Amino acid sequence: MLLKINLEKNKREGESMEQTLYGKGVSKGIGIGKAKITETQEVGVSEFKIEDTENEWHFLQDCYQKVIQETETLVNGATSTQKEIMEAYVMLLKDPSLLAEAKKMIDQEKYNAGYAVKKSFSNLAQHFEEMKDPYFATRASDILDMGNRILAQMVQQEEIDLEHLEDHTILVGKEITASQIAKVNLQQIEGIILQEGNENSHVSIMARTNEIPTIVGARECMKIQDQQFLAMDGESGEITIQPSQETITQLRKRQEEWLDKKESLKQYQHKVSQTIDGRKVEIYANIGHPQDMKKALENGAEGVGLFRSEFLYMESNHMPTEEEQFQAYQEVLKSANGKKVIIRTLDIGGDKDLKYWQLEPEENPFLGYRAIRICLAEPSIFKTQLRALYRASQFGKLSIMFPMICSLEEMREVKKIVKETQMELEKSGESFDPHVPLGVMIEIPSSALMANELAKECDFFSIGTNDLIQYTLAVERGNVKIEKLYTKYHPAVIRFIKMAIEGAHQANIPCGMCGEAAAEKIFIPLLMGLGLDEFSMNPSRILNTRRLICRLEEKSCRELANQVLKLKTAKEIKDCLIAYNQDHHL
Ligand code: PEP
Ligand code: MG
Repeated sequence: MLLKINLEKNKREGESMEQTLYGKGVSKGIGIGKAKITETQEVGVSEFKIEDTENEWHFLQDCYQKVIQETETLVNGATSTQKEIMEAYVMLLKDPSLLAEAKKMIDQEKYNAGYAVKKSFSNLAQHFEEMKDPYFATRASDILDMGNRILAQMVQQEEIDLEHLEDHTILVGKEITASQIAKVNLQQIEGIILQEGNENSHVSIMARTNEIPTIVGARECMKIQDQQFLAMDGESGEITIQPSQETITQLRKRQEEWLDKKESLKQYQHKVSQTIDGRKVEIYANIGHPQDMKKALENGAEGVGLFRSEFLYMESNHMPTEEEQFQAYQEVLKSANGKKVIIRTLDIGGDKDLKYWQLEPEENPFLGYRAIRICLAEPSIFKTQLRALYRASQFGKLSIMFPMICSLEEMREVKKIVKETQMELEKSGESFDPHVPLGVMIEIPSSALMANELAKECDFFSIGTNDLIQYTLAVERGNVKIEKLYTKYHPAVIRFIKMAIEGAHQANIPCGMCGEAAAEKIFIPLLMGLGLDEFSMNPSRILNTRRLICRLEEKSCRELANQVLKLKTAKEIKDCLIAYNQDHHL
């Protein structure tokens, strides 16, 4: 009703009111509704010295405990995605070192508690902000939010009410913290617009999972006033303040097209992934958390082709224990309802760090101490994970995959440690499935070249094109300066993919792909032609891919592959694949 009134009002006031702002779309969809400014008000704090340091410290402790209790209550009422974010938040909040600097400022410098909190939390946030990794930089806002909440507790300041929103609300703020989002009823949210943030921030992840249109980096969004009428496109990043009737009609049309497309893809949810001439393949999901299994199944995943177990390690504030890992693996296996789940062992190093376990800085981290190299050098970390995996193996159809294998010796060493772990489990009376398939990620050129030998040492391959491209072409995968050189269409990359598939097939084992290339529309006919057996990707890409595969003809894909293998440059290959797509109306 309110929405209708606004539309009428807008119509009367004409198009001249309309104003457009831009940001970066990080979660697709159209949002039309009224703005709710979420800006956390900074608590004003004065600086003075005190006498009774003990009393001041107790006062701070009291306020801090109240914030913890309040947050724990939020965790209990949160949805599963929110819950996970909030639990990480509580863990950070409970970190004993969080108040260390404030305590020192009170005890030694006799500062008042408010000033000590303000100063120490802003120092800590700055420290996080300076870290190169976007994950940790994003945590800086969580730290500031925690400090602000303790201060609000001290002065008994009321927070902006996000618990009682109207339907069709678009949240607008500099940034929205995890604790704020946990209070919101997501059903009432039409969209989120933020001045800051990036694709990796908590809000962006949560928004994508819950399909809430979201725009970040909208520099001018603080121009928007509370209750102002807005329209936004979470794909293009366009925000319209006081949209005209014409703009709304256009956006609604875009929204309908998008929803129709999504709806029509649902018919592929339970279809077999099979070409018109009968070649069947499997389409799996890449996930990072047990909770992602729901979205994977909704999108018709035939299993999980890559569970990136490192997220468990990266989102914890300590090395996850065997029991914690066991619970997570058990949960993902149970929720897969008997479908295959490939869990990849710890893949850190390179661009993935653990905040509680600093690896020594290296000249070339992507070529250095990472992934399986760390696991082989630190068998106790590796065995803890293997024990948890094998114990969970009784609860579903588990496969274990090892990242960054570059030689036969390495895989043999892995198998030796696996055997030892199994013997230890037997000794301690644990039950497990001793026949869990063991696979190798083909993401280093040496393993692609040795594929036919390596295939005899394992039960399956999965090609990791994200790394295979970087190592084949010597082009760092996240380096924007050289991003044009990073291409899956390079003939050398395609030859390595071919070698991996052929090596696997000679040894009668399946070959999958879990790198981003597996979901690339124009690349898929080529992969079919090269004989790939399994495609694994972000859940949101599965139905589109299945639709495409159901329209392909294997014989024609084989001819395409033969043609591509004769080409000599990336450009020729890409042009050839584009032409194939157009000629076949794909
Ligand atoms: C890959 O390298 O292609 C891959 C799937 O692994 P990650 O992106 O996690 O390195
Ligand atoms: Mg990789």
